Amino acid sequence: MPASTRPRPHGRRAGPAALPVARGRPLTTVFYSHPDCRLHDMGPGHPECPQRLDAITDHLLATGLDIALDFRDAPKATLEQIERAHTAGYVTRLVDLLEQGKNADEPRYLDPDTVACPATLDAALRSAGAAIAATDDVLAGRAGTAFCAVRPPGHHATRDEAMGFCFFNNVAIAARHALDVHRLKRVAIVDFDVHHGNGTEDIIAGDERVLMVSFFQHPLYPYSGAVPKGTNMVNVPIAPYTRGPALRETIEQMWGPALDAFKPEMLFISAGFDAHREDDLGQLGLVEADYEWITKLLVGVAARHSQGRIVSCLEGGYNLSALARSVAAHLRVLADVH
Ligand SMILES: [Zn+2]
Repeated sequence: MPASTRPRPHGRRAGPAALPVARGRPLTTVFYSHPDCRLHDMGPGHPECPQRLDAITDHLLATGLDIALDFRDAPKATLEQIERAHTAGYVTRLVDLLEQGKNADEPRYLDPDTVACPATLDAALRSAGAAIAATDDVLAGRAGTAFCAVRPPGHHATRDEAMGFCFFNNVAIAARHALDVHRLKRVAIVDFDVHHGNGTEDIIAGDERVLMVSFFQHPLYPYSGAVPKGTNMVNVPIAPYTRGPALRETIEQMWGPALDAFKPEMLFISAGFDAHREDDLGQLGLVEADYEWITKLLVGVAARHSQGRIVSCLEGGYNLSALARSVAAHLRVLADVH
């Protein structure tokens, strides 16, 4: 097990590599992660596994994309920051349970798929903390864009419930941080995970400072989203076995005008890569080129309205090879690397 998710400096690696060149973007793309995020372990055979982060980091090194990124360790979020998206009662209950779990011999099931181990609390605090620190960096001009390679993911965590591998809703917490602390007036949350981001919808439905646009396979877990919970949602249910070209056309029509009309000052991305056709948790047919296309669409929106500001957080993506390749495609666009 590596001591850190931070890759070694590029120059110390043996063997030749094609070095990508960042161009046109004066600010760097930061890559937040933390070794604690690797230690959260929901048991043998669980798809949301520590090796997901290893696969991403290994692929960045193998492709040379690592030299275009600024790697930073995620701090822990404070409970005050988390309570901008979750109820105080939920945060207290969950933190108490996870604190007790630090000394427990047996895993604790929050739902049949969502399991706490002794390392879960620190991992969850780092995941939310990554999204917050990335937001601070982008808004302070210390970075142009950011990607948070974190786990546990967040978009199924509702205001007061852990579910679907998620404990704290990292993206919603960061969006509220941008609104409440940095005083932005409008932010957009874009969710392209194959599963509906029911937790994010639960938290931000009716908060007119936020526009949430998403697509998701329907029907599929958590079997929500077909009827939006608020007027600030653009939900695009997609039939199983839909492939990239049809999906691109649909989201261009559904997302583009809504985002341009809303004029967000910053974009947050719930970046799940489980709509990939090699991923067994969904039945959509996307490939890396589709993630590249979607990211370009969002970079275009951010360039028009948001001074390029994007914070992207890892959600799903369970085929390790497809996940790593798709994250690289996403990062190449965010970092403007060709
Ligand atoms: Zn998912």
